[in-house]
Amino acid sequence: MRFVWSGLDLDAGDGAVDVICDVSRNEEEGRFEFRIKVENRSGKYGLFDTEYPKLSSLVRPGNGAFIHPGGNWGGEKKRKPYAFKRIYPDFHVPIQLAAYDADTGDGVMMAALDADARIKYVVSDASFGLSFLVPAEGAGLPGAHGTPPFAFALYPYHGDWWKGAKRYRAWAEKAKVKWLSKGRIAGRKDFPKAMRDAGLWMLMTDDVPTNERNVNLTVDKVAGRVPISVHWYNWQFNGGDPIYPKYFPAHPDFSNAVRRCTAKGVRVMPYVNARIWGHLDPGWPQAKRYACCQPDGSVYVENWRKKDFSAMCPFTKFWRDDVVSVTDALFGTFGVNSIYLDQVASMVAVICYSSDHGHPVGGGSHWVDGYRQMVADIHRRYPGKPLTSENFCEPYVDTFENFLLWCPNYDTDVPLIPAVYSGYIETFACIATASYSMEAYRAVNSRALMWGNQGGWCTPGILKDAHAEKFEYLVKLAQIRGKNLEYFSDGELIGEVVNKASAPMLNLKWIRWGSMIDQRVPAVQAMRWRSPAGKEMVVVSNSSDNEQPFDGGEDRLRFKLAAGEIRIVKP
Ligand SMILES: [Zn+2]
Repeated sequence: MRFVWSGLDLDAGDGAVDVICDVSRNEEEGRFEFRIKVENRSGKYGLFDTEYPKLSSLVRPGNGAFIHPGGNWGGEKKRKPYAFKRIYPDFHVPIQLAAYDADTGDGVMMAALDADARIKYVVSDASFGLSFLVPAEGAGLPGAHGTPPFAFALYPYHGDWWKGAKRYRAWAEKAKVKWLSKGRIAGRKDFPKAMRDAGLWMLMTDDVPTNERNVNLTVDKVAGRVPISVHWYNWQFNGGDPIYPKYFPAHPDFSNAVRRCTAKGVRVMPYVNARIWGHLDPGWPQAKRYACCQPDGSVYVENWRKKDFSAMCPFTKFWRDDVVSVTDALFGTFGVNSIYLDQVASMVAVICYSSDHGHPVGGGSHWVDGYRQMVADIHRRYPGKPLTSENFCEPYVDTFENFLLWCPNYDTDVPLIPAVYSGYIETFACIATASYSMEAYRAVNSRALMWGNQGGWCTPGILKDAHAEKFEYLVKLAQIRGKNLEYFSDGELIGEVVNKASAPMLNLKWIRWGSMIDQRVPAVQAMRWRSPAGKEMVVVSNSSDNEQPFDGGEDRLRFKLAAGEIRIVKP
C-alpha cells in the first residue's frame, strides 16, 4: 500500500515537497514494514525530521499491557498508557522496540529495523500509541530531504512479549547489525575470561587507603570461594569528582594499592568519565569547539553536582584521543585490570548540529560510530583488557565487555536486555541495601542471577558481621553462576517457567532513589536457559522464609524448595 502527497507547497506555489509512505507485508519474516520518503526540491527550506509510522491504540486501554523500553532491565510492563518521548540510544531506550500484550493471548511488537543505530525518538502517547521520530541528516539545511534507510516493523505474535523480543533478536542476528559483529561470547577469542566470571562485585568510593583496607576485608571474608572484582572510585589525587576529564596526578598510593590488590587476585576497575568536559577546567576554552552543538551553535550544558559540563562530540578525534590518553595511563602505568567508561551506554545520545565536526548535521549514526571508534582505539592498544560502561544500550553490545545495571529494580521490570542479548553480553550489579528484609534481598538478587547477571556492587557496609547472612547469600549466587557459565554467560535466556503450584506473592520493599517502595513479586520464580550446545537448564529460586512448592509442568520440575533455596535443574 502506498500513500503519496506530491507537490506540497512550502512557499506559495513552489510545489517543493513530495511525501511517499509505504506499508507492505513481509510474509517470510511475518511482519508489516513501514517506510517513509520525503523529496524536497526547495533551495530555501530543509527537512528537520520525520515521524512515521504513528499508530494509536495498539491495545485497548484496560485490556492489555504496554512493555515500554526503560528501567534497569531494558523494559517495564505497565497496564496503564505511559506517555514519553525519548531519544534512542539511551538507557531509557536501550533497544529500539516496544511491545503490547493484549489480554487475548496475542500481541504486537513494534521496532525500528535500523542496523546502524541512528539517533531517533521513540514516542508513546496516552492511548497506547507509538511512533518513531527520526532527525534528518543535514537537518534543516536548505534542500535537505529524508529517507530513513531502514524499515519500521510491526510484528503480530501469539503469546506474550517474550515472542516479540525473540523476533527482534532473530532480526538483529539475521541483519548482521554492526553491534553483533563479534558474535556470541562463547565463540570470541578476544573476550576476557575475567569478565565472563567476575565473581562478586564490590563498589569502593572512599579514599585510596580506605578502599584498599576494604578490599582486604572482602578478600578475607570471601576466602577464595569466588573471584572479587572492584569498581574503584576516587583514585585521583584530590578525591571527589574531578573536573573531567582531568584526573592526574593520581593519589600517591594508588599505584601501589593496585599492585597489592591485583597480587591477591582482585580485579581492579577504576572510574573514568568518557562523555563530558567541565567548564571550570582551564582546557575548556580550547575543548569547547569539540563539544556537541545545538541548532543555534551553542553547546549543550549539563549540571552535575552544581558544576557545568558539556557533552563532547565523540565523532571528533580530539575527544576520542583525550579519553584514550587517560586509559593509556591507567593500563600502561598503573596496571589496572579493566576501566569503567562512565555514561557512554547510559546517557542519551546528544544530537550534534555542528557543521565543523565532519559528520552530518543533526541525524545519523555518528554519535554511536564515534564511541565505537573510541573504544576500538583503546582495545587495539590494550588487547584483552576489558572496558565497561554504565547501564546498557544495544549499539555497544560488541564494544564493552560488561554493563553496570545499577538502577532501581521494580516488580514491573521485564528482562528485555537478556531476552534479546543473552549470550552476547555480560551485565553486573544489583541495587539492594543491607536494610532489606532477607526475603526482599533474596528476591531482587536471585532474580538478577536468573536473568544472567553478575551480582554484588555492594558497598563495604555489607561486610559487617550483622549482615553475614546477606553477604553469604551473594557469595552463594556468585558460586552458582560461576559453576554454570555455559548457561548464564554463554547461553540464551529462553523464557520464564511458570510455577503451576500454589506459592504466595511476597509483599516487599525495594529501594528507589533513596526511598523504600512497596513491591509485589512471586515467592518462587524460574527461568529457562539454553547453552550454545543446545542443553537446557532451569534455575528456580524460592525467596521466601518458608518451604514452597514448584511445578514447572514436567516431572523433573516438580519439587519443594527449602526456605531461600536456589536449585539448578539440568537434563
Ligand atoms: Zn559533532
